[in-house]
Amino acid sequence: MCYNPPIPCFFKYMLKQRTLKSVIRASGVGLHSGVKVNMSLRPAAANTGIVFRRIDLDPVVDLPASALMVGDTLMCSCLERDGVKVGTIEHLMSALAGLGVDNAYVDLDAAEVPILDGSASPFVFLIQSAGIEDQQSAKKFIRVKRRIEVRETDRGGERWARFDPYDGYRLTFSIAFNHPAIERTGQEVTFDFAGNSYVREIARARTFGFMQEVEWLHENGLAQGGGLDNAVVLDEFRVLNADGLRYSDEFVKHKVLDAIGDLYLLKHPLLAAFTAHKSGHALNNLLARELLAHPDAWELVSFEDAARAPQSVVRWLAQPAY
Ligand SMILES: [Zn+2]
Repeated sequence: MCYNPPIPCFFKYMLKQRTLKSVIRASGVGLHSGVKVNMSLRPAAANTGIVFRRIDLDPVVDLPASALMVGDTLMCSCLERDGVKVGTIEHLMSALAGLGVDNAYVDLDAAEVPILDGSASPFVFLIQSAGIEDQQSAKKFIRVKRRIEVRETDRGGERWARFDPYDGYRLTFSIAFNHPAIERTGQEVTFDFAGNSYVREIARARTFGFMQEVEWLHENGLAQGGGLDNAVVLDEFRVLNADGLRYSDEFVKHKVLDAIGDLYLLKHPLLAAFTAHKSGHALNNLLARELLAHPDAWELVSFEDAARAPQSVVRWLAQPAY
């Protein structure tokens, strides 16, 4: 490794794109549809990106993971093309981003990625089981060059999200739930890929929901497959899951997990600081679109010589995948 500057390094190496070493399969239910779905994660050539495929349709429909293809953001991130949808992609996208996987096919025989345990952890396990392989093309990053910000005001007050230039990738997220069980936990967290482990510190955070919302969700055809096995569920006062929380600040960490997945729809890892207050899938997507709409605010960069890359990113990608 060449990231210790005082030691002269004679072996120049490139930061390379990555894909999976082998095919891995899993099945589960869709969080919102409640329908059983079979999923295969497969290797893909360099510069393919992440491509979801509805193999239950004839002909098969490919849906490339792109912020510009996000349709419905009610409770999840959903890709849509010519009326064909794939929903609840964000936890798998988060795992792929966290492990630095650039290229993969995701074959599905239904319209939703399985929810599994409501976190990114089972996807991390699947990707690790398949193995990760370097490819012979330079990894591309989106480097943010100036501040881009989006804001929204509604009944719940003001929410916002922004990118700032940063020599690495860092996310700071705050929530403000007026709920006794959430107020007791940390409502703000900063995660920097430089010195932290995505797999240990973020991936296990589960999605969460409130009993009071369940009726509304069911009436709207959502969360049909949701329950205590795949979400942290709260009543008015407390967490209902017998085992409690996985992290003392699991709620806000799940929001970071979601944001990592939503922002990976920009197709490349970011070199930026992301800061958000009460953001969600819709606002995360709006921020991604706002960035893309301002080509002067970002550039695609790659590093033929890792010594010239932000060293925090080199350390992140050099982390063993556990
Ligand atoms: Zn989520």
